[in-house]
Amino acid sequence: MDTTYSPIQPISYQSLNPIDVKRDDLIDPYISGNKWRKLKYVLAKANSLGRTHLVTFGGAYSNHLLATAAASARAGLKVTAFVRGEAVENEMLLLCRLFGMQLIFVDRSIYRHKTDLFNLHFEKDSAAFFIDEGGASAEAVKGCAEIIDELGQEYDYIFCAAGTGTTAAGLLSGINRLQLKTELHVIPVLNGADFIEREIAKYVGHTAGLQLHLDYHFGGYAKTTPVLLNFMSNFIAQTGVLIDPVYTAKMFFAINDLKLKGKLKDDAKILAIHTGGLMGILGMKEKLGKLFL
Ligand SMILES: *Cc1c(COP(=O)(O)O)cnc(C)c1O
Repeated sequence: MDTTYSPIQPISYQSLNPIDVKRDDLIDPYISGNKWRKLKYVLAKANSLGRTHLVTFGGAYSNHLLATAAASARAGLKVTAFVRGEAVENEMLLLCRLFGMQLIFVDRSIYRHKTDLFNLHFEKDSAAFFIDEGGASAEAVKGCAEIIDELGQEYDYIFCAAGTGTTAAGLLSGINRLQLKTELHVIPVLNGADFIEREIAKYVGHTAGLQLHLDYHFGGYAKTTPVLLNFMSNFIAQTGVLIDPVYTAKMFFAINDLKLKGKLKDDAKILAIHTGGLMGILGMKEKLGKLFL
């Protein structure tokens, strides 16, 4: 495997002096970061089965929906998404529609039954291919493991943000495959996310070398505080690296905070995975705008 999809760049900010960043956000603006890694082998599987209609699931600001929409358009595939909750319009869904995605809004209680929904609508469509919310699958883990193949050096710590934990599972399996001594430090962006350990174990078989940091969710998924948003805007202005309030700002905040508190070895070589998702900024434009009033 000699394909490298994104560069590694050093950044310096506060106690991060410097750390390396794997710029998966630069892979593509819409098929962004880890969502592209997660879709790579899912798309290959759909293709090998001759399926030309991708069907997937997500919330109204889902990076996964936008990534799937853009990837489908580029591959010439039909694409449909079940969107959780009542019908809304926003920038993210507008982009999805521009990429040709059909949107079906479904009530939260119904949304939960994903295979039933898929069967109800597409049982007779032999081209339809089910992709789980966020792209979670063994194929996604395989795609994310390839990040480790691209590093060219052994880090002491690799950091990533986590929603479902699929990306983290891929990173841990890549670390194991190359028998690295690297510790994987995971920052869940949801409250009460100890389920992520089981999720990772499900794919990898164990969680040796994993450290979960459960205290950097800032209130929960898509929740923020003024402290986080100020950190985010200062970080962007001083590093020139755009980060998002839902995932990567929480990760960089955590690395900086752990370093300040002396919880990371001083001379450790640290890599942060920039998982992309920058359109998430649009979902918080009012809150972010208030920072500058
Ligand atoms: C979806 C997403 C994640 C979470 O990935 P999981 O595999 O669900 O843990 C992290 N960062 C960004 C930017 C994302 O869009």
